[in-house]
Amino acid sequence: MTNYNNSAKFIYRCTDCGKEYDGSQTMYLCPDCSAKNKADKPPLGVLKTIYDYKELKKSVGSFVKFKERGFIDLMPFENLSSLPVLKVGNTPLYFFDSLDGEKLPFSIYFKDDSQNPTFSFKDRASAVVSAYAKEKGYETIVAASTGNAGSSLAGLCAAQGQKAIIMVPEAAPIAKLTQIIMYGATIVPVKGTYDDAFDLSIKATEEFGWYNRNTAFNPFTIEGKKTVSFELLEQLGFSVPDKIFVPVGDGVIISGVFKGFEDLLELGIIEKMPVIVMVQSDGSDNIVRNMETNEFVSKPSNTIADSISVDIPRNFNMAKQYLKKYNGEYLTVSDDEILEASKLLSKNSGIFAEPAATTAFAGLLAYRKLNKLNDNSRNVVLLTGSGLKDLKSVNKLLNIPVAVRPEIGELKKIL
Ligand SMILES: [Zn+2]
Repeated sequence: MTNYNNSAKFIYRCTDCGKEYDGSQTMYLCPDCSAKNKADKPPLGVLKTIYDYKELKKSVGSFVKFKERGFIDLMPFENLSSLPVLKVGNTPLYFFDSLDGEKLPFSIYFKDDSQNPTFSFKDRASAVVSAYAKEKGYETIVAASTGNAGSSLAGLCAAQGQKAIIMVPEAAPIAKLTQIIMYGATIVPVKGTYDDAFDLSIKATEEFGWYNRNTAFNPFTIEGKKTVSFELLEQLGFSVPDKIFVPVGDGVIISGVFKGFEDLLELGIIEKMPVIVMVQSDGSDNIVRNMETNEFVSKPSNTIADSISVDIPRNFNMAKQYLKKYNGEYLTVSDDEILEASKLLSKNSGIFAEPAATTAFAGLLAYRKLNKLNDNSRNVVLLTGSGLKDLKSVNKLLNIPVAVRPEIGELKKIL
């Protein structure tokens, strides 16, 4: 598969120039492309991890066999024992065919990734990054994050006895940092924005030899995120769903979903890709708005869906390529629609997801209104994080009745 001697089981391939690199070295961005990167544009040079699919088809073969082997053949590290002991992934998929008592002509499947150890989808990425670091002898992992990625890295490093350093913008609210602090990670507040924290974390990686988990910088975050696609295939009886609604901020999760199905396609395990639908908040639509343009233009984001509020989506180029290549679809929803979807989800399913996650469900509901869901179709909604992570956002929905006197007659009056 390569024209040089590659001792690892994978190679890196640049999303933008297509250049390939030896997988036995730790790499982040393609050096050629990243040299051209500018602060106001999404970075070029994000690397894809490519396995020897032809060889794996022969040596492993079936999905069941890959699963028996814990998918280690499609992972960038060598031993499953390098993973944290915490249970990451294998999250439940819940089936629904009615909403508010009304029978639906199609099915909805909620993939509940709030069931991960630190309550978000990001644990899939942190687990792989942590395992790779362990095998390569990196004792410290650094990331710039104010939200789920930071808490996730902190939690999984705690489980692995690794040191996590999380760089956050100075203005990050303390509530968002609670999980990180409780997991014992070192928090470094950085003067400036998220981008300043991001840049400092990269300089620190070079200076101190730490391992860096930054999203769309470390190629293996996508390798972790792709595992959701393997699970979906199995949970849906080894057939691909019709549509998968994915909430999108920087474009890494959706690229992971695509990559998982693409691996399966390369291996001949599936014959077609599902239609993957990117859902962004209309207050943070920097990928949707730039899907058909030649020059990326950023608009400052402002949405209650905090985890997907992004000015410069770091994995824009890869996400756009995937959406184009596999006929993905995209739409935006308003904050009101997101809140409405949050409420509808919780009261119909008992799942409480954060607004960023229910953005995906709001996308499905918008499709339903537009009659874009076929009868008897199977539609997955990816719920990427717990509602308990972002209680403030749903304040608007809280309407608590005034107190009654503790008498049954009083109670009868209000019921
Ligand atoms: Zn390149």
